[in-house]
Amino acid sequence: MARETILVVEDEEDLLELARYNLVREGYQVIAVGTGEEALEAARTRQPDVVLLDLMLPGINGLDVCRLLKNDARTRHTPVIMVTARGEDADVVLGLELGADDYVIKPFSPRVLVARVRVALRRADNEVEEDGAVLRRGGLVIDPGRHEVTVDGAEVELTHTQFLILQLLARRPGWVFGRQQILETARGDDYLATERSVDVHIVALRRKLGDEGDRIETVRGVGYRFRE
Ligand code: CA
Repeated sequence: MARETILVVEDEEDLLELARYNLVREGYQVIAVGTGEEALEAARTRQPDVVLLDLMLPGINGLDVCRLLKNDARTRHTPVIMVTARGEDADVVLGLELGADDYVIKPFSPRVLVARVRVALRRADNEVEEDGAVLRRGGLVIDPGRHEVTVDGAEVELTHTQFLILQLLARRPGWVFGRQQILETARGDDYLATERSVDVHIVALRRKLGDEGDRIETVRGVGYRFRE
């Protein structure tokens, strides 16, 4: 089995070692670097399968690294897991808007860290699900081609905006989407204007989806995700 490569970016030696030790023990190959500059270089030349990215770095900070990775064709599809201090929700939100895929909060337990990496790798494998593909999530079926949603076979009437929001979330179960991100995706016919309007649509979506509605989870301070 090919060993997957994880790029760990962390300027605190202890944390870098902790992450490295635990990932290597799980059988991953680890590239460990301490600055944003090294992270960019390593990501471009060594094509890791996942980047674990501390946000508070000397020099180029983590958010800038994230933006540069997501704007570069060579690294755009590499999952980025942000590592952030507790209480820095604003950074998490910004990071997600820049294209980061997930985040863990320090101090992290090695078990959680390894689990998040595993999920990111699994998702990257599943990315092949195409735009037009019918999504099946339990009793919920979303058919983009027909613009149709059913729950246990019964059609659910959604507005265009609600359909787009549901499709966005359901396509990537477990991924967290910030309100601004949702806003940009779903800015359709009815001119979603504020982040608050996203909340209103989510409430309506949950209600209309009935038993399947609780699949849409609130991530406090950040946004929403579709339960895995
Ligand atoms: Ca740091």
